[in-house]
Order: sequence, then structure tokens, then C-alpha cells
Amino acid sequence: MSENQGKRKYFRGGVHPHDGKALSAKNSINEAPLFDKYQVVLQQNIGAPPKAIVKKGDVVLKGQMIAESTGFVCTPVHAPTSGVVSGIVEIPGAMGQSVKAIEIASDGEDKWGSSLKPMKDWEQRDDSEIKQRIHDAGIVGMGGAAFPTHVKLSPPENKNIDYLILNGAECEPYLTADHRLMIEDPERILKGALIIANSLNINKIAIGIEKNKPDAIKILKKHSADYGISIVPLRMMYPQGAEKQLIYSVTKRKVPAGGLPMDCGCVVQNVATAAAVYDAVVKGQPLIERVTTITGNSVVNPGNWRLKLGTTALDALKLASGVKNNPAKIIMGGPMMGFAQKSLMVTITKNSSGILLLDKEDTSIYESRQCINCKGCVDVCPMNLTPSVLSKAAVKENFDIAERFNVMDCMECGCCAYVCPSRRPMVQHLRLAKGKILAKRRAQQNK
Ligand code: SF4
Ligand code: SF4
Repeated sequence: MSENQGKRKYFRGGVHPHDGKALSAKNSINEAPLFDKYQVVLQQNIGAPPKAIVKKGDVVLKGQMIAESTGFVCTPVHAPTSGVVSGIVEIPGAMGQSVKAIEIASDGEDKWGSSLKPMKDWEQRDDSEIKQRIHDAGIVGMGGAAFPTHVKLSPPENKNIDYLILNGAECEPYLTADHRLMIEDPERILKGALIIANSLNINKIAIGIEKNKPDAIKILKKHSADYGISIVPLRMMYPQGAEKQLIYSVTKRKVPAGGLPMDCGCVVQNVATAAAVYDAVVKGQPLIERVTTITGNSVVNPGNWRLKLGTTALDALKLASGVKNNPAKIIMGGPMMGFAQKSLMVTITKNSSGILLLDKEDTSIYESRQCINCKGCVDVCPMNLTPSVLSKAAVKENFDIAERFNVMDCMECGCCAYVCPSRRPMVQHLRLAKGKILAKRRAQQNK
């Protein structure tokens, strides 16, 4: 019996939201001009916060390290351009909190000064050297998670990893940054995938791409033949790009409940992360810029731009010719998993896949009502949870019940909120419960 026999064809649950991708999918990646000022958020990774190693008045070069790692699960941060550090400032963070940022006043020269040397002979290098380089270049998951890439590539010895999957699904509505990158820069992605696979001593590599990107599938298929990399077209169903769902779609392997991709032999990396790994290793370039989609019905000219880290959303919107139709909602990321913003002074970080401005029509505000036990949320939850129970437990501050009903497995995909006829803000409820449980666990550890 083959590995896949008897398994369901598709992952459980999911929804089909309006994808809004036509607004920007055909627009090539534009290079952003140099702005006068960048505010580079200090902590751009999940894990420990890096420590600033520059101070007000210091002269910095593009690519120079400005914040260093403080632990294994941490990544350094580098200057996106040359100039003078004008201060360490507090700015609005994408998740609603205020965050520390290193402000750099550009000198207009964009002068390069990275200490990383190109490793053109990367195939001859030791795995540990490649992983160290990936760390030193400040690479994190660029699909949204911002988990340090070198950590993902350092599984415990008892984990038998044999499959690298690149995530090119980009299932989040409106976003087209990865789509354009796959069309315009396939070689960087493919070579990055080889470097990652090599560092794990594996050779099974696949790139999963939703079928609504036939041009990207065609181009990558053409280029991937020489690399022994499979291109897997995927059914269009949100959240196809979530790690566990992607792994199932590509390999029919299941990540055990509460487990990680490594528990079923897989490592998943976003396509943009693979391209950044290529830059870091082969060219000696740290992660200081990324492609971001600027879009929505309230943006005059939606499109995709290569933006330096620390660019404000305000400056980024100027590139798209500003706003129209009285924007009612600003979101960093996509409409399903992104975070609503109060300020346009939030800046681009390593995981900023999009800036979305929606008008009133697309953001009709409904009053949240009582749950009517329709079971809609249960049917669509891709993680097999009971979102109605979890949401009610969170509202009543019964966090022990939420924990018992596995709220920590919730990936905040928003499918439950999307279908809820009572318009309950499920994701906010679930995030609250997860935050409280994590805080309780940390407090217990520190006792
Ligand atoms: S409970 Fe979590 S994982 Fe399930 S649908 Fe809602 S947001 Fe997604
Ligand atoms: S979809 Fe909304 S109303 Fe229906 S069971 Fe879930 S929380 Fe209750």
C-alpha cells in the first residue's frame, strides 16, 4: 500500500474568500526610491529581542549590523541604507503595541558596507557555516511568522527530516508579492531552495503553488527541471499556505496535534525566504528589504514594491499614488491574518507581506451577536477545533477551558470569523485566550 492510499485528497475545512488579487497581480515589482528616513524595528523575529549596537550620531553603511542577537532564537538587524543614526525611537508596531526602532537619516548615497562575504563555493561549505550565515544575515520566515530561519534548519538530532517544501501558495487574499517574485525571480528562489536542502542534507524539494497563479507555475516548472525540484499546483482554498495544510496537500503527511513540521519529516520555508537565503549565502547580502503588496480598493495604484525595512506605511502609500474612496481600514498583511492599524507610521519589517487599505463597502461593520450554535465555524476550522466553545470561553475568561479545548493549536487563520453569521470577533477572542495561557505558562516556568 502506498504512503498516500486511503488518505483524504484535501485538508479539512477552509473557506473561499473574495481574493482581490486582480488589483495587483499583473503589476511587476517596482524598486522604491530612497526615502529621507527609515525606522527599523529592533525586534523583527519571534524569540529573544536583539540588542542595538549603534547609538544616536553613529554613521552606518547599508547592510551593516545595527542590532545583534541575544540568544539562539534571535536574529540580527541591519541598516537598510547608509546615513546617520538619529535616535532609538518608539513607533507604532504592526500588532498594535508600541515598539523600539533604530531611526536612520539617509545620506542619499545608499553606500554598501556589509561585512558578509559572498560564498560562491557554498556547496563546498560545511552545513554549520551555511546556517551561521543565514543567522548572520538576519533571515526569518518572510511569509508572516518571522521565525528565525537558522533555528528551523537546526532540528534536534532525533528528527529525521527528508522533505523541504517551499510555500508559494500565497492563499491570503489581496497579496501578490510572492506571486510576482516567483514570476520575476525564479532562479533566486530555486537556488535558495537548493542551499536550504543542502544544509539539511536532503534532496527532496517541492514548491506548492495555488492554481490561481498559472503563470508562476509555468515559469517555475520550466526553470526547476534542472534542479530536481517538483512544482506542485494546489487547490485554491484558504488557508492552503498554512504549514500543516501545505504539508498535507504536498505530501499527504500529517503533523501530529501539538507537533511541528519536523515531526513528520518536513521543513517549510516561504519562497521569499528562499530568495533571501540565496542573497545571504551567494551574494553576502543581509536581509534589508522585501517585496510588499500595496493594495485594496482605497489605494489609487495598487502594486508590488521592493521596500527597505523601516519604510513607513505612509511613504509606501505615496508610491502607490496615495488613497481614494475614504479608506475605512488599514491592515498590515492580508484581510484574514493581518493586523488592523491605527497609524500609517507603522513600518515595513521582514514579514510585511502587504499594506491593505479597504473602503467602507469592503469593511461593513456589523454588531457582534450571541452565538446561535449553527456549527458553521466548526465545519470550516482547518485545525479541527470548536471555535464557538473557545470564543465563549475566552469571553468569560475561562482560559483553562480554552486550553483544554486546544486553543493553542489555533493558527488564527480567521476561517471561523469569516463564516460566523453572528459576526463574532473570533480571532480576537482566540488571540486573547492564547496570550493569557502563554503568560500563565511563562509565569509557571519562572517560578
Ligand atoms: S479556531 Fe483558529 S484555526 Fe480554527 S478556524 Fe478559527 S482561527 Fe482558524
Ligand atoms: S459560526 Fe458563529 S454563531 Fe455559528 S456556532 Fe460558530 S460562533 Fe456560533
